[in-house]
Amino acid sequence: MIYLDFNATTPVLPTVFELMKPWFCEAFGNPSSRQHAWGWKADEAVKQAREQLAQLLGAKPDEVVFTSGATEACNLAIKGLAQHASPDRRRILCLKTEHKAVLDTVRFLESVGFEVEWIAVDHDGQPDWEQLQQALERPTLMVCAMLANNETGVIHDIPRLARYCRDASTLLFCDATQALGKIPVDVQQLGVDLLACSAHKMYGPKGSGALYIRRSSRHIALVPLLHGGGQESGLRAGTLNVPAIVGMGAAAAHAMKTQEAQHIQMLQWRTHWEQHLRAQGALITAQNSVRLPNTLHFRVPGIRASEWIAALPQLGIATGSACSSGNGQPSHVALAMGMTSVQASECLRISFGTTLKKHEPEEALQMVQQALSRFRSA
Ligand code: PLP
Repeated sequence: MIYLDFNATTPVLPTVFELMKPWFCEAFGNPSSRQHAWGWKADEAVKQAREQLAQLLGAKPDEVVFTSGATEACNLAIKGLAQHASPDRRRILCLKTEHKAVLDTVRFLESVGFEVEWIAVDHDGQPDWEQLQQALERPTLMVCAMLANNETGVIHDIPRLARYCRDASTLLFCDATQALGKIPVDVQQLGVDLLACSAHKMYGPKGSGALYIRRSSRHIALVPLLHGGGQESGLRAGTLNVPAIVGMGAAAAHAMKTQEAQHIQMLQWRTHWEQHLRAQGALITAQNSVRLPNTLHFRVPGIRASEWIAALPQLGIATGSACSSGNGQPSHVALAMGMTSVQASECLRISFGTTLKKHEPEEALQMVQQALSRFRSA
């Protein structure tokens, strides 16, 4: 069995898990308990995790709000901003290829009266810059654009978008969930106002994420999703999940140290697979775009993804996003990139990860090639 679905989720690294363990049974204090050592100790651990994540993001620690994952971070950013929208700025721009955590949140706001303009992408998954620039000529509250797409791995030119947003006095929210830990993510260099991320995409635990909020920006006022004990500067009430937060911090610190070397390894695997698959008639999605080094999205005309998956039970591979792979609908990302629904239903995603053994990608490739020969001789 070879797992090749690291964009859906990653295992928790044993070193990360070791660091999380003491915070369950031994050091179980509530970081909000200000009157004793149990609370102080937990508070210190959260502080360290905040610093570790901030360092990976190029942010200040007080710009990080811990959440239950990227979905919550996206909701907090988008709904939180929307509730402060002035009457002349109830307008949102959103890429058609965003993850459902963003799409469905924006759709919800559309259903309660916000005006939404959906930004098209081309065959390579890149936004329609002309549409974006024209759309920004009207007063707009925010633009939602992910850094890297979870299905295709396409990386967007966020610094360019940030310049347009700044000129239009519009806020830029960026979902960087798939990018963090795989490519350098620096909030200053990106120029984003808000950014969402998740621990379980970078070898940390599930149920742990964060929202970066630029503190120097004057227009960012968020209404929290949860009210209560005032944790996280009042933006996310509820007792902090200390083990999960410690895990996220440790995963961030690990990514700081290893991400550059891993980038090279992932790219080698991806390039090797692409060369072989192309030689056998596969079409690589968004091949003219800069893409995440670990992500390969392709199709072989005439073979449905469901046939691939049935033919390769030893491989953990997927048709696209884990969140939508269960509903049997063709991927909205592939459709937005101009594929027909038949073409979209042929797409497969392979996402490599750092816990793969050196020989596994090659073994998996051979299985894919053998399956292809079987399809062709059938
Ligand atoms: N955004 C993107 C791009 C994702 O890939 C995912 C996870 O699949 C999410 C958001 C949601 O993350 P979480 O599982 O932490 O809520």
